[in-house]
Amino acid sequence: MDVLIVDDDAVTRLALSAALEEWGFVPILAENGEQALKKLEMDNAPHLLIFDWSMPGMSGPELCKTIRKREDGQFFYILMLTGKEGNEAIIEAMEAGADDFLSKPFDHRVLKVRIAAGSRIVRLEQTLNQLASRDALTQCWNRRMIDELFTNSIAESTRKRSAFSIMVLDIDHFKVVNDTYGHAAGDLALKHVVSILNTNLREYDQVGRYGGEEFVILLPATDENEAWGVAERVRSAIQFQPTVLNDGAKIDLTVSIGIAQFDRSRDINQNTFFERADKALYTAKQSGRNRIICAD
Ligand code: GH3
Ligand code: MG
Ligand code: MG
Repeated sequence: MDVLIVDDDAVTRLALSAALEEWGFVPILAENGEQALKKLEMDNAPHLLIFDWSMPGMSGPELCKTIRKREDGQFFYILMLTGKEGNEAIIEAMEAGADDFLSKPFDHRVLKVRIAAGSRIVRLEQTLNQLASRDALTQCWNRRMIDELFTNSIAESTRKRSAFSIMVLDIDHFKVVNDTYGHAAGDLALKHVVSILNTNLREYDQVGRYGGEEFVILLPATDENEAWGVAERVRSAIQFQPTVLNDGAKIDLTVSIGIAQFDRSRDINQNTFFERADKALYTAKQSGRNRIICAD
């Protein structure tokens, strides 16, 4: 687990970093609040943080307040490690948003158990986050999360004036797969479809499971022509890569896909935009399945 150490004193940074490495953590270093905030904006930012109190610029408690104010669904565990001591300092630090407080000079064994306690909470929070945002079977985003990402993508595309398209994908005659091979085989087929989606999409595309065998795929910075290319790649990959069961039996699947590009002038909201792609999917089903239809 990564641990962010924020301290203006180089000797303390090095000592802490050596101790954390010894205890199996990966130290990330910052000399002041500004640097710390930058590190927290990165993808895969650390969630366990150790702050000094007195630093040039932003103090430890100010840094706590700033982080707590902007925390949007993300959780950070903050240990204030400071030359200050006494109840007044503990209260001030924890009211500012710190989770724990330790005075310097400290006993290394005490720091070790405090960090272990913090890392248990961070891990628990990560598990909760995973359960709340991922589909248990396929590990793609669940409906709640893909809806949230969908809202963000519309906002981003509006802000950047960039293209944004979505695909709504539904497995054809999936009921027959369950009826023929059993529910467990159907589950394997669902996982297989998601793994094909993951290998055929870009890193910033997002896959969510919307219902039983229906998926929504967000394609930022993609117009409908490009979306068509992506959809065709996915459609043919699914058609030509059957799900292989444990006994060697192969399940052939096809999918139908509806595509729509976000259009600021007519998509009043997310629902009306989604409806256009969903209608296109319906048309794809009606006109024979195993095909892609673009809205309009
Ligand atoms: P269409 O081509 O019109 O989409 O037909 P379909 O059979 O795929 O569609 P329908 O909506 O009639 O059936 C969907 C099936 O998906 C029925 C349901 O049992 C199955 N299903 C939904 N969720 C799961 C799941 O988590 N695991 C398995 N194995 N099957 C599921
Ligand atoms: Mg279906
Ligand atoms: Mg369906």
